[in-house]
Amino acid sequence: MKRTALIGQLAPYSGQTVTLQGWVNRRRDLGGLIFIELRDRSGVVQVQVEPDSPAFAEADQLRAEYVAEIEGRLQLRPEGQRKGGLGDHEVIATRVKVLGVAKTPAFELDKGDQVAEDIRLKYRYLDLRRPEMQRALMLRSRAVAAVTAFLEAEGFIQVETPMLTRSTPEGARDFLVPSRLSAGEFYALPQSPQLFKQLLMIAGFDRYYQLARCFRDEDLRADRQPDFTQLDMEMSFVEQDDVLEIQERLMAHVFREVLGVELPLPFPRLSYQDAMDRYGSDKPDLRFGLEFVEMTDLFAGGGFKAFASAASVKALVAPELTRKQIDELERVAKQNGAGGLAWLRREGEGFTGGISKFVGEVAPELIARTGVPEGGTLLFAAGEWKKAVSALGAVRLALRDLFGLAAAGPAFHVSWVVDFPQLDYDEDSASWTYMHHPFTAPHPDDVALFGTARQGEIRAQAYDLVLNGFEVGGGSVRIHDPEVQAQMFAAIGMSDEDAREKFGFFLDALASGTPPHGGIAWGFDRLIMVMAGAASIREVIAFPKNNRGVDLMAGAPSAVDAPQLAEVGVAVLAGE
Ligand code: ASP
Repeated sequence: MKRTALIGQLAPYSGQTVTLQGWVNRRRDLGGLIFIELRDRSGVVQVQVEPDSPAFAEADQLRAEYVAEIEGRLQLRPEGQRKGGLGDHEVIATRVKVLGVAKTPAFELDKGDQVAEDIRLKYRYLDLRRPEMQRALMLRSRAVAAVTAFLEAEGFIQVETPMLTRSTPEGARDFLVPSRLSAGEFYALPQSPQLFKQLLMIAGFDRYYQLARCFRDEDLRADRQPDFTQLDMEMSFVEQDDVLEIQERLMAHVFREVLGVELPLPFPRLSYQDAMDRYGSDKPDLRFGLEFVEMTDLFAGGGFKAFASAASVKALVAPELTRKQIDELERVAKQNGAGGLAWLRREGEGFTGGISKFVGEVAPELIARTGVPEGGTLLFAAGEWKKAVSALGAVRLALRDLFGLAAAGPAFHVSWVVDFPQLDYDEDSASWTYMHHPFTAPHPDDVALFGTARQGEIRAQAYDLVLNGFEVGGGSVRIHDPEVQAQMFAAIGMSDEDAREKFGFFLDALASGTPPHGGIAWGFDRLIMVMAGAASIREVIAFPKNNRGVDLMAGAPSAVDAPQLAEVGVAVLAGE
């Protein structure tokens, strides 16, 4: 027996006999009748089984999450009991067949949002039956279809790249896989297909894309998983603007197809310097304003010691805050690298509280610059530039959450952050490292700074795609000149031998006729998370790990037996 249609598509069969297949969402017994809510991925319908129905005995077996086939007449519910849509209808059962029995579910699916996440993950097959989860994964599938259709039409070629490979430098720790055939040696799982997609450009494919699984052994957060999906793209004979332009059209296409949302084009562009200076983040949430106000010059050389000599002093204008709220915001600032969070409350033409006794003379200028209203609060971070702006950036986001500031803006705001620095100085190791990855091209005007005292000022042709304060994509124009590549390796302290040993194959390829090229990768899970309005990427991944990197359902990672280890030439240290 075949089902007539998915439950959600039954409406046109009103008045007819239909066959349904699905899960028992709920069973209730009332006045001798049995009421079954039958559910599939498209909807739920109420089935009524009358005491004298030939279906009654079988229906009486049904419990929550049993799989059943039900035949009956689809009819309009009595007036006054209609709930709109399919809820206007019910099925009067004539035949019921149990297709699959179910143990008592580990949790009530209806209450899934109140259940501990670890329980949901352990019984993920049940959790995935919840309509929220089904909607999220169906949205994800539609996004994949939209991406594929767009990129195919634009001449992109889908190519798969290996999972078992060598380390790719994306700045995280590698996951290693021991080799049996070359015992004592290891593959690395790719942190991204970076080198392979560049090799595809060298090989002449011109435009490439892939929904690529990537692996990074990092500490986990709500928007990170050890294995995750990138929409990876690369294009030949392009400059930065060409990449950005097609990405904007692709993003607009995906939002239109999947959510029916029109994103205004082009997306605003901010330099890294600007984004940090104004919002204290290289992925600023621009659904709301709340820009920093520059204060460095106002306090420079003045009487307030803590600000007088600071490289950077910035302020935020907040509404009236309680002491408790200020303390909480100070905690956020400290957590993000600030020594503290100075504050003032406006009262008349002056200030009270916080650092008010130090600002007497500059009070009028403070009011003029910030426009802080009566009763409003000024919050300050001061110190080394990056530390000060980052800490105040975190406070800005805390104010967003405290006052629901994002709600007044557009539901989705996409922007570019461009002109990232090429190099990043790592205080711990007192050495330079790459900011994006070592194959990113420097700005042509800045190449001469390599190897000089000013190499920290070199701008990269690198860009990030930012959605609602999340980095949902990042890429760059690549170095295609082997000499510049050598300069870059030198700048990050990588010797020729080291570079050859790690990337010899790639350097040979680079010297074999390389077109100018560039690309980008989208953090696909993160994008879908924001589009679905979910709080974590785990909500849009079918079988994720928990926040300790554990797959609670399958039980991974797990110990393996000694013979298996011996075969791959690996010994586990005692006590580990
Ligand atoms: N491979 C880079 C990343 O994973 C993306 C890119 O540069 O295209 O961030």
